[in-house]
Amino acid sequence: MSRFLSPEALRLDPYTPGEQPRDQQYIKLNTNESPFPPSPKVLEALSRAEVEKLYLYSDPTCAALNAAIAGRYGLDPENVISGNGSDEILAFAFRAFCGEGKGAAFADITYGFYEAQAALFGLEAKRVPLREDFSLSVEDYLDFPGTVVIANPNAPTGMTVPVSDVRRLLERDPERVVIVDEAYVDFGAESCVPLVREYGNLLVTQTMSKSRSLAGGRVGFALGDRELIADLNRVKYSFNPYNVNRLSLLAGAAAVEDEAYFQACCRAVRENRAWTVEALERRGFTVLPSSANFIFAKPDRIPGGELYRRLKEKGILVRWFDKDRIRDFCRITIGSREQMEALTERIDRLLAGE
Ligand SMILES: *Cc1c(COP(=O)(O)O)cnc(C)c1O
Repeated sequence: MSRFLSPEALRLDPYTPGEQPRDQQYIKLNTNESPFPPSPKVLEALSRAEVEKLYLYSDPTCAALNAAIAGRYGLDPENVISGNGSDEILAFAFRAFCGEGKGAAFADITYGFYEAQAALFGLEAKRVPLREDFSLSVEDYLDFPGTVVIANPNAPTGMTVPVSDVRRLLERDPERVVIVDEAYVDFGAESCVPLVREYGNLLVTQTMSKSRSLAGGRVGFALGDRELIADLNRVKYSFNPYNVNRLSLLAGAAAVEDEAYFQACCRAVRENRAWTVEALERRGFTVLPSSANFIFAKPDRIPGGELYRRLKEKGILVRWFDKDRIRDFCRITIGSREQMEALTERIDRLLAGE
């Protein structure tokens, strides 16, 4: 750290991304990327002619991308904002809806970025413990006066909250914003998007990083009442007006327009998930019920940290959090069938004492 670091920056709590080591070729099951390439339509959209246009700024309004997203979700373009990943959208939302005397509440076990962003904006963060079984009790949030953030499905557990519970939260206090982070919703959870027209205090964030195979393209978006979206744009235009680059605007629109490819990828992940859950349960693992493209699994014979380390030695990366309540678990991204077979073979050898 330099002697120039501000006290504000000193108080930050930076998020630790999943490791991306380059010392060998790993089977990467640690950051919930898709095992599939983007839609062929994305490749077609990124023509040489479009690359040549990189000397021009991108469209700050993201008009074509927002229109494509709005069309896909049955909303108007004014209900959509796109971002450089949904992490950026979440930051806009924290800045727009929280501040002095208005903090944010989220689960004790959830996406680590909420904590990091709350610190970035100097917000008071209320961490609400999940139940013993890692389910979320909506009762615990009903009377919280600030912004509520719920990842649905949750990370790293993969577990869901019923839409009826979100509805209760929205109705309990129409003066409070509820952010539902649906980064993983396409893998089998019920979405809150149909509630967007009904509730002016609901913001749903989604991403193309997982179900649309564009993690490296950095395209996320939020859906909400047009006034909420206008608030987010106010923050965006105070921070980075050209937040989505030209190529990602094209890639995102092409990805969202290829519904058949998207559905096929999601189906393959769900099938591989079912296969993997069964395979691990047969090997004595406890696996939480997942609606995401990862599972949260606890081996019965070795500690979670040891599983993580020994898989890594053999070229398979999973995510392990050295954190109370979840230290016994590993979060394992659902990859291709070949990758999941390699995982279970490696686990068999490891459990056999090799
Ligand atoms: C991956 C993820 C995101 C956002 O990812 P981006 O790549 O920034 O779009 C948001 N929320 C959760 C819970 C995630 O796991």
